[in-house]
Amino acid sequence: MRQTELFSKTHKDFPKDEVAINAQLLIKANFVQKLMAGVYSFMPLGYRTLEKIMAIIREEMNALGASELLMPALHPRSIWDATGRWDTMKKVMYQFKDDGGREFGLGTTHEEVIAVLGKTVIDSYADLPLAAYQIQMKFRNEPRAKSGLIRGRQFIMKDLYSFHADEQSLEDLYERSKRAYLNVFERAGLKAYVTEASGGDFTKSFSHEFQVETPAGEDETLLCRLCGFARNKEIADEKAGARCPKCESGVLEKAKTVEVGNIFKLGTKFSEAAGLYFKDKSGVSKPVIMASYGIGVDRLMGTIVEVHHDEKGIVWPESVAPYKVHLLRLGDEAEVQKFADEAYNHLTQAGVEVLYDDRPDVSAGEKFYDADLIGLPYRAIVSGKTVLQEKIEVKKRSEKEGKLMKAEELAKHLKI
Ligand code: ATP
Ligand code: MG
Repeated sequence: MRQTELFSKTHKDFPKDEVAINAQLLIKANFVQKLMAGVYSFMPLGYRTLEKIMAIIREEMNALGASELLMPALHPRSIWDATGRWDTMKKVMYQFKDDGGREFGLGTTHEEVIAVLGKTVIDSYADLPLAAYQIQMKFRNEPRAKSGLIRGRQFIMKDLYSFHADEQSLEDLYERSKRAYLNVFERAGLKAYVTEASGGDFTKSFSHEFQVETPAGEDETLLCRLCGFARNKEIADEKAGARCPKCESGVLEKAKTVEVGNIFKLGTKFSEAAGLYFKDKSGVSKPVIMASYGIGVDRLMGTIVEVHHDEKGIVWPESVAPYKVHLLRLGDEAEVQKFADEAYNHLTQAGVEVLYDDRPDVSAGEKFYDADLIGLPYRAIVSGKTVLQEKIEVKKRSEKEGKLMKAEELAKHLKI
């Protein structure tokens, strides 16, 4: 991608109305822009990163055997009345009437809708287990939307729902989903702790949150660095400094964390409300057992920035960087332009994702500054000096010293 054609421009200053580091860096580098508190647009660079995150999530959810679908954001009041949540979620749900007096809500989550859809698919035990997921926009009237992408009023969630005939089947998928979630976070460059949390209204057992440690975190987690045990502070009887109840040799520490995902056993509350029943082997009708599994997709992007940045800007993990290499053309002389254009063509044809800073009349200092801010994994420089040797200087975002290479060599180097 040539930067002269990219619908994007970095800004000189940090936005004044943002306190969160993720929002400050992402807005300054123009990955996202704020429309109002808790509502962001994804600009081309930000959208590419989002797509890479979504691709990782899709791979891991598909590997669980789940099917992808897409549900509406606009819901009629009736399905929420069936579970009683029209009233209990009044504070978080955007609810309104049309001219004819019909009432609607913007979806905060989709248990109600998926349970109704389950009825079109599930009749007997032979249809189970099943799992379906979507990556979709949620709306919640969050009172404090000050954490950038970490807490939106409109945000993107991956929500998966599973359907089972018995507890054992639910337990199997629930455990497999923990591994799938850890894969997602690891592949996105984050270490997540599987954290015991309250089971909420639906079950007496724990639910599990996936918590990532960062000072930007709004949650508090007690964790053991020795064995990885973690428990949400809200439900913990233990205090910081106590012996870890799991490994009994580590000590619990209190850490600030962000909840990037959680998994929940729902029991039969939603299936009973929707009339979602199946016939068991002896022909007896029973409510389907359900569970839900969420990941905050844009919250994940914000968390990656909180964890991976330095004083100069973002340091994207390769797996989610919008492009792999930032090719900087330093100088507008004809030889430099020609050499840089050829290097760009060579790399893109070799299948390398390149952002090419071909802007004329922009100083080397400004190009370096922007490259550090945008934070692609590699920076490649073509200047009058490198052209004399018919080479390109390349360095990692995280390294100080660069190496000189021919374009072919660079393509090979970056393809690994
Ligand atoms: P929180 O306690 O942070 O409000 P939650 O318990 O309300 O989260 P869920 O309803 O379980 O979250 O949603 C599933 C996932 O969606 C969460 O684990 C989180 O990653 C993400 N998420 C929830 N609320 C938001 C939000 N306002 N903005 C961005 N992501 C969110
Ligand atoms: Mg919430």
